[in-house]
Amino acid sequence: MNKKVTKIGVLTSGGDAPGMNACVRAVVRTALFEGYEVYGIMRGYQGMLDDDIIKMESRSVANIIQRGGTILKTARCKDFMTPEGRKKGYENLRKRGIDGLVIIGGDGSFRGAQIFSNEFDIPCIGIPGTIDKDIAGTDFTIGFDTAVNTAIEAIDKIRDTADAHDRLFVIEVMGRDAGYIALHSGIATGAEHILIPEKKTNINEMVDSLLEKERRQKLVNLVVVAEGDDFGGGNEVGKVIREKLPNADVRVCILGHIQRGGAPTCLDRLIASRMGYAAVECLKEGRDNVMVGIVNNRMHYTPLDHAVKAKQKISEEWLKIVKILAS
Ligand code: ADP
Repeated sequence: MNKKVTKIGVLTSGGDAPGMNACVRAVVRTALFEGYEVYGIMRGYQGMLDDDIIKMESRSVANIIQRGGTILKTARCKDFMTPEGRKKGYENLRKRGIDGLVIIGGDGSFRGAQIFSNEFDIPCIGIPGTIDKDIAGTDFTIGFDTAVNTAIEAIDKIRDTADAHDRLFVIEVMGRDAGYIALHSGIATGAEHILIPEKKTNINEMVDSLLEKERRQKLVNLVVVAEGDDFGGGNEVGKVIREKLPNADVRVCILGHIQRGGAPTCLDRLIASRMGYAAVECLKEGRDNVMVGIVNNRMHYTPLDHAVKAKQKISEEWLKIVKILAS
């Protein structure tokens, strides 16, 4: 057991994700309910170093559960990667007596939290807030469901115009290292091909399959590509298809940042609320260096170390389903 926590700091770090606000709200209100003082640290670790830290009350998180983005703002902070930077951050926490931290972010943020916690004996609890869903130890990450639903809405609209003109669309979705948004949105919109970073792209095989479809007059085709696909993303894939299928009317659409914004879905609000609550309970129970997750609908606690090292794997079954359903 660690020493008893009395004041909790909460921050959002790394890439923003819809639902982070709902999670901040849950952390603040649970902490107050449990009798802790709670502080919001602005712009992730940067605010910790800059001493940009504000006391939170119940009203501070009113009317934010439905909002995308994060009221605490988020940032990437190079100085936190240095021992001097982290020491400065620690001193700013100590000044206020903050002795427990909740970090809502992705694997990079957890890496930082782990190092910080080991150096300064401040228990750190991670909450997975990332649209990429690329963290082990949880079935959900905050923001993924919203991002994938935004992608679906956009791809459905693209399908309408593809159908009206008999066009082949290459649609790039977010996912630099993880293909979950591409995989889920592609299956849910009936894409013919889904290209993800986790699987080497066989461009010739895809072109052959599109040529075969062209021969049988299947002219509406959607190819969903994760931005981090090894072939080079939507533009590169579009270029090759244009070259190899000169008769096809090929368009490329990069969905981009719309996938990060917007009101969180019901699922994201629920998991954000549950995880925020559980993170404060973790500090109360004396846990340290763990990530709060949900596995099989139950709270699940994973050492931060494991959460950042073991990426979630994409099951072969998903990939098989793509092939069978897109014939
Ligand atoms: P995400 O949390 O979304 O994966 P990043 O990878 O950008 O986002 O990480 C967010 C921040 O976490 C970084 O800007 C940095 O301040 C901190 N961080 C990441 N990796 C480390 C590390 N190895 N050591 C210390 N801090 C780190």
